[in-house]
Amino acid sequence: NSFEDFYLSRELLMGIFEAGYEKPSPIQEDSIPVALAGRDILARAKNGTGKTASFIIPTLQKIKTKSNKIQALLLLPTRELALQTSQVVKTLGKHLKIQCMVSTGGTPLSDDIVRLEEAVHVLVGTPGRILDLASRKIADLSECSIFVMDEADKMLSQEFKTLIEQILSFLPAKHQSLLFSATFPLSIQEFIARNLKNPYEINL
Ligand code: AMP
Repeated sequence: NSFEDFYLSRELLMGIFEAGYEKPSPIQEDSIPVALAGRDILARAKNGTGKTASFIIPTLQKIKTKSNKIQALLLLPTRELALQTSQVVKTLGKHLKIQCMVSTGGTPLSDDIVRLEEAVHVLVGTPGRILDLASRKIADLSECSIFVMDEADKMLSQEFKTLIEQILSFLPAKHQSLLFSATFPLSIQEFIARNLKNPYEINL
């Protein structure tokens, strides 16, 4: 088992190896080929398993930099986690011309408006701010074909569920969802049943 087995671009492989990853972790081994093939994924995985790279690697492989549009949305429950995740996008994507933006509450909306006038391929953020940007038509999610939710159990509490579903209404109907969560309470199971298509399940 090697990252070379996934037929990733040379630039992406360089980023992976320079990050010090020598071979895929079990969750990466399982999820990367399935995600590359376009299937929805539902993964129960804890921190420390390499789950972040398991959704970032296929995402980076799929982005087309000929377009300037947002092609992937990564939702996290907190600003801290959004920043950490964007850092992994930047590290693994170091040799790609992929533009990544972080957008969360607690920062001026005007900064996001200015940033979104430039190319953004991967948008990483927290639900409230992302919905704000999408509903005000500041962020165009009409070509966003990859939707990732990490720590989904922390985001899909009853109060936030409608917020996430509103965000999804701005994505194209045909998009791929990659959902990672430590636990699967009823609120998440309902969301999965409504929003994921025949997801490939990973349990670690
Ligand atoms: P995560 O579970 O995503 O929070 O990742 C846990 C840690 O494992 C992070 O510090 C990653 O940089 C590291 N990591 C992820 N994938 C690999 C890999 N294939 N080989 C070595 N380290 C990795």
